[in-house]
Amino acid sequence: MMDLLIKGVEIADPINGRFYCNIGIKDHKIKMVSEQNIEAEKIIEASGLIAAPGFIDIHMHESEVTEETASLEMFEHMARMGVTTAVGGNCGLNTCKKSAAGYFNLLEQSGIPINYVGFTGYGYSREQQGHELNRPLTYPEFEELAPLIRNDLEKGACGVSLGLEYVPGISTEEMIWLGQLVKEYPDRLISAHYRYDSDRSLEALAELIILSRETGVPLQISHIGSCNAFGQMDSALEMFDAALKAGVDISADVYPYNAFSTMIGSAVFDEGCFERLRASYDSLLVTEGKYRGHKCTEDIFLELRSQAPDTLIVAFVMDEDEIVTALKHPEIMIASDGFLRSGQGHPRASGAFPRALGKYVREEKHLDLVEAVKKMTLLPAHRLGLTQKGRVAADYDADLVLFDFNKISDRSNYEKPAVPPEGIEHVLVGGKQVVCNSKYTGGDNGTVIRTG
Ligand SMILES: [Zn+2]
Repeated sequence: MMDLLIKGVEIADPINGRFYCNIGIKDHKIKMVSEQNIEAEKIIEASGLIAAPGFIDIHMHESEVTEETASLEMFEHMARMGVTTAVGGNCGLNTCKKSAAGYFNLLEQSGIPINYVGFTGYGYSREQQGHELNRPLTYPEFEELAPLIRNDLEKGACGVSLGLEYVPGISTEEMIWLGQLVKEYPDRLISAHYRYDSDRSLEALAELIILSRETGVPLQISHIGSCNAFGQMDSALEMFDAALKAGVDISADVYPYNAFSTMIGSAVFDEGCFERLRASYDSLLVTEGKYRGHKCTEDIFLELRSQAPDTLIVAFVMDEDEIVTALKHPEIMIASDGFLRSGQGHPRASGAFPRALGKYVREEKHLDLVEAVKKMTLLPAHRLGLTQKGRVAADYDADLVLFDFNKISDRSNYEKPAVPPEGIEHVLVGGKQVVCNSKYTGGDNGTVIRTG
């Protein structure tokens, strides 16, 4: 007797492909995938739907902790778009504004609807120690900071993230020291937001390849689209492939949009940015604060940079064809890089995965469905060492998403970034529903997955 039967569903598994079957779930696990009848206490009638492994978002940004309460805002957006495991702490930023170890504890106390894996942000620790953004650390300064990073790694952070564009002072040498530290802990990654985008993005990519080659630490290149989709994508992927072929342990993710989002005060918008990005003030849309919904003018841009540098903006500057090229590359994962604060920010936070399946698979046919599913499930599971996740097969965790392939689409946009998607009918985390008939039901069935 199973706890749950998913009846008459079409499975989309990254290894076995598409086929019709029943899925039997017991004790948080997929126990049976069978054409036979399965006895169960509860049944989800799923004919007409596709069952894929729950999406694993290898690049998202967790919500901020305020007054010792972990906001679940981002986890809800994740669950609604089919994500059952979210990986935060990216880009060097602990957007939770806590150490990774402290955040893990808080999530475990409060309970979470989906699974969480976390990097610790190097930029965050550097900031905690009071270091300036533009000055490289000396080795003694690095040694003084190292215990913060070590503590997070000992408590199960999956690795360390870098945001080189945000903290330009981090020297290549400093990164190598960090890589050597991370290498002491088994199965950890470095994820890195490149140092330069657009015209200097190839040089930035080369630096990351060297970091991995010199230290032996597996490296995840973050949101490669917003680094290279300015005329450099083909060359970037040639470098990427050559490094892989030479045995360097690198991988990358991309979000399915041609506009990026960040804080207006970031170094991305330092002098010369508009020439570099082939853009102008009105390529930037303000998505929060008093100018929300306005395109930038020179006056708004200068005012926000000096008085409200944390304001989130969206920059419409990337080349769509090059985003497609990255999405199609067999080794590149699909991730959201999502972050919404009080429902404001970039629509990818509530739409990335449904958009990849609706726009790029069903409508534009750039990718095959199973191929796309693999980029959101098995590829990130492998990268993170999650051996029980990423497939619809017996003995895997019962993290599943059931969607209507004819309907699935993102409905969030730059004006309304928090609108939930269409076509995601059921989402299960460890066999329990967090989304039921397209309604978010939440719960605390998620786990903080600690590495090591
Ligand atoms: Zn980033």
